[in-house]
Amino acid sequence: MVFDKPFDFSSVVKSGIIDDNSLEAVDSHAGGIIGFKTSKGEKVNAKVASSFISHEQAELNLKELDGKNFDEVAKNGRERWNEVLGRIEVNDDDIDNKRTFYSCLYRSLLFPRGLYEYNKDGKVVHYSPYNGKVLPGYMFTDTGFWDTFRCLFPFLNLMYPNMSEKIQEGLVNTYKESGFLQEWASPGHRGCMVGNNSASVVADAYLKGIRGYDIQSLWKAVNHGANNVHPQVQSTGRLGYKEYNKLGYVPCNIGINESAARTLEYAFDDWSIYQLGKALKKPKKEIEVYAKRAMNYKNLYYKEFKLMAGRKADGSFEENFNPFKWGGSFTEGNSLHYTWSVFHDPKGLIDLMGGDKNFNMMLDSVFILPPIFDSSYYHGVIHEIREMQIMNFGNYAHGNQPIQHLIYLYNYSGEPWKTQYWIRRVMDQLYSSAPDGYCGDEDNGQTSAWYVFSSLGFYPVCPGSNQYVLGTPYFNNVKLHLENGKSVEISAEDNSQENKYIFAMKVNGNDYSRNYITHEQLLGGIKINFKMSDKPNKSRGIKESDFPYSFSNELKK
Ligand code: CA
Repeated sequence: MVFDKPFDFSSVVKSGIIDDNSLEAVDSHAGGIIGFKTSKGEKVNAKVASSFISHEQAELNLKELDGKNFDEVAKNGRERWNEVLGRIEVNDDDIDNKRTFYSCLYRSLLFPRGLYEYNKDGKVVHYSPYNGKVLPGYMFTDTGFWDTFRCLFPFLNLMYPNMSEKIQEGLVNTYKESGFLQEWASPGHRGCMVGNNSASVVADAYLKGIRGYDIQSLWKAVNHGANNVHPQVQSTGRLGYKEYNKLGYVPCNIGINESAARTLEYAFDDWSIYQLGKALKKPKKEIEVYAKRAMNYKNLYYKEFKLMAGRKADGSFEENFNPFKWGGSFTEGNSLHYTWSVFHDPKGLIDLMGGDKNFNMMLDSVFILPPIFDSSYYHGVIHEIREMQIMNFGNYAHGNQPIQHLIYLYNYSGEPWKTQYWIRRVMDQLYSSAPDGYCGDEDNGQTSAWYVFSSLGFYPVCPGSNQYVLGTPYFNNVKLHLENGKSVEISAEDNSQENKYIFAMKVNGNDYSRNYITHEQLLGGIKINFKMSDKPNKSRGIKESDFPYSFSNELKK
């Protein structure tokens, strides 16, 4: 810390005891107190820098502020945020809508955080939370992939690919320094949540065209993580991988908690690895095991309930299965929330449920069933449960992440207007520009990025595929300025609170019937014109050829 005026008083604090006679304190809880003689209204300015590496590095970091006063630093900060937030230009008459949008955009960009610094030669270096060394290259922290693989990373890959490249390099370094990719960095491997969704974060970036880092090391990393578990941190790698690889699911009766959630996410992660392997032209015999395992979600389908459930090692389903029970076989949600975690193959899930009609009925039931719950697994009502209860959207629990793609699934089964109806209700009722403008866990930007994507009119249901599935546009006019210099212009004619349904759609002036747009379409620069209506257009988007990606369909080809 450097002050623009010398201080007149100092003392140190050791474990809460003030010592006026010392200049230095060493303790597990140490502090310092300084004081200034000032005239009335006088301001003292302090410049502060920190470092994970050393005091000397902190002094280097402080040089960033050399020659700038407080107002200049504040101005630079405003300009930088304007540049970053200005990549998306929203036009709307309602200032509160813009406040909500830009607040969500801001929050989408706070995580992950850079854990790197610039050394005296101006080179990027980082303190490794994994081995304690100071090493070259990027490192990032403070993101839980269980939350953020869903749409936060796809958002960064679309709008901020230069930053994505650095984040991927940080993952390479994490693997080299610890033998695993992180699932929850804060910083270092943290035992938290389930899944092996680092595979999705790696695959989505590469498949969306991000380059400039060591993808071959990341290929090794995702393979290693899929077939090992971290010796100390059980949520890193795959807990239960041996059973999963042998039986096709993690059994619910072998002492591994939340086994169904793990299985469903491992299956999607396997699909991610398969797609990455294909893109890297890996030999068929090396990657086909992942294609096979990607279908493992089917092993948990409990036909009598048309839902996913925990399954025992002997093949029988869990006893006293209760779709309303949070936790148990699932993670911070129940079977009604988790059954849909088949991001890569909604068509396969539709077939399991007996066709579109049954599938739509099961989707409807999530909203229609009252917000009843069984909280016995948590020995009390966790905040995620309480949020579902008071939001009054039935069993739809938008305040936590597992269900956040669900509304978009009507696009795979011939009732896209229900997607449009529910998206608009969630946006209108569960987000606002007020201090209570969130309905639950923000979680490293995931719940914000959901709003940002949804307000554009599309959402990446299956990260790693090149598709964004249609919802309904929120603003009359939006322009995305992409880093490649192209722009995406989205307009919604006759849009209003009542006119929430897509009546028709044009892409670059041509009539467009698909329920999705592709990454390549967006990157190429595109004009999307929606025409909105207060009544659903039940003849739009109901042909199977217009439905979004499903792995089952890819395998048939
Ligand atoms: Ca959460």
